[in-house]
Amino acid sequence: MTRTTSKYWLVGIGLWCVAVSGFALYSIETSKQRLADELQAAGQTLHRLISQRVAQHDAHMTSLIAVTSGPEPASFSAVRHVMETIIRFYPRIAWIELISLGDTEPEDHGVKVLLRVPEGESEDLAALRGAFAEQERGKIAVYENRNGRYLLAKKASSPSETAVVLSIDARLLLDPEERPAWAKVRLMLSGKPLLDLPAQDGVDTAASFVAPLHFESVIDGEKQQLSLLLDRSVPLAALLPARHVVGFGVMTGLALFAAMFALRQRSTTLRLRRTVGEAEIRAVLHERETMLAHASRVNALGEMASGIAHELTQPLTAILSHSQAALRLTDADTFDIHPICKALEVNVREAKRAGEMLKRMRDYASNRVPEPVRSAINGIVTEIEALTSIDLKQRGIRLDCSLAAEPLEAVADPIELEQVLHNLIRNAADALEGADTKAATIRIETQAAGCEAKIIVSDNGPGIATDALPRLFRPFFTTKPEGMGLGLSLCATLVERIDGRIEAENSAGGGARFTVTLPRLPSREAP
Ligand code: ADP
Repeated sequence: MTRTTSKYWLVGIGLWCVAVSGFALYSIETSKQRLADELQAAGQTLHRLISQRVAQHDAHMTSLIAVTSGPEPASFSAVRHVMETIIRFYPRIAWIELISLGDTEPEDHGVKVLLRVPEGESEDLAALRGAFAEQERGKIAVYENRNGRYLLAKKASSPSETAVVLSIDARLLLDPEERPAWAKVRLMLSGKPLLDLPAQDGVDTAASFVAPLHFESVIDGEKQQLSLLLDRSVPLAALLPARHVVGFGVMTGLALFAAMFALRQRSTTLRLRRTVGEAEIRAVLHERETMLAHASRVNALGEMASGIAHELTQPLTAILSHSQAALRLTDADTFDIHPICKALEVNVREAKRAGEMLKRMRDYASNRVPEPVRSAINGIVTEIEALTSIDLKQRGIRLDCSLAAEPLEAVADPIELEQVLHNLIRNAADALEGADTKAATIRIETQAAGCEAKIIVSDNGPGIATDALPRLFRPFFTTKPEGMGLGLSLCATLVERIDGRIEAENSAGGGARFTVTLPRLPSREAP
């Protein structure tokens, strides 16, 4: 996996983690709200049910007081019947007593039970005697009782000393099925715990992941100071259902994977297109450079024309004079074939020399596609020496060549390498001519330097100005009035495209020194 690919995947996994965490937080928030809403709704329902039941208790008390202490009180058997009916239909009313607070025997301790339904052992209400006496007539008062029960008492209006007492079993105020299984239900009577029912699903509020949800409301009965309290445990599983998170994780993971895949495909296509575009641009540049190199060579040949013409004149003159001499010999009385053969040999040699010269010129000016091949550097230097030496001689400049003893080979197009050397020689000649140097000399050296081959072209001219040195290889940099400033930049292009480099400096003894360095090929084993 490449570095870019792993970066893509890391970003993808990071995004996925952020999405899943975001979903988890959202799920927790919404679940908490939903659970709180459920608790609120359940609390209100229970509150309504209990309120209705409490109101029924008030109604029973009022009707019982009415039948027992009116101007014409009902008989005890009629009152008992009413009480039995109430008990039968309302099982949460544990018992009902009609008591007398006056006219009691000493053993009654101030409270005498006149009637009790269901029959059985009466509660010991003597402790409440004082409270009953204090109680406002016609109003209901609530008293604590044992075992989850509480008492409701109502005193008849004066002069009757009777009162009705109801024992309510708070546990039966709600049917089990009316309670939500997840809620812990509590009832408080005047601020004291009356009933504490744990959640039916067995989830304790201590196991709550966040603070348990709470509902509290006062039951509006006449003096029945009851409070309903609901608590709901919020376990993590309720806030963050595992299957939702896993489902979301899988879905987003798949979606992200698909998006990443599409992105990767797109970036690969773009990269490919870019690569193709760059290759096309490189090809166009290469073609232009080749055309420029060719134009520059043709131009150089024009400059060398007089030297070349001189070079060609020599063999032609020699051929002419030897041919004339040979012709004369054929006319002589004593025909001697030997000098004629000599003359013909010279002709052949000179014609070959002229032919070589023309071939060199044709090659140099050719417009063929450059083809880097295994080239012998010393051979190329010898060629360029032959091509330029006559012109240089005419300009009064000596050309010294010092070739490495060992064979130096590099992958290069011979014509282009010749062109590089020719440009360097021509620049050196221009510098020498302009400076009017005595014993003007250009020196070409070839050297082996490890796995590199060096060609050094130096002169004993004025050298390069220090401020010009860094700009020398930039296109259009020239200090010559007629210069184009393209020679050295072309040299750099041609050398760099065969993985070489070209450097310029001033020699310690004066004059400029250009070094072309090329990767050297290992020499071939002798066959
Ligand atoms: P041009 O020959 O058209 O000026 P080049 O790119 O061949 O363009 O050369 C750029 C400049 O480099 C020349 O104008 C010259 O100032 C400087 N230069 C090149 N070779 C030499 C040298 N051997 N001695 C001194 N200056 C040189």
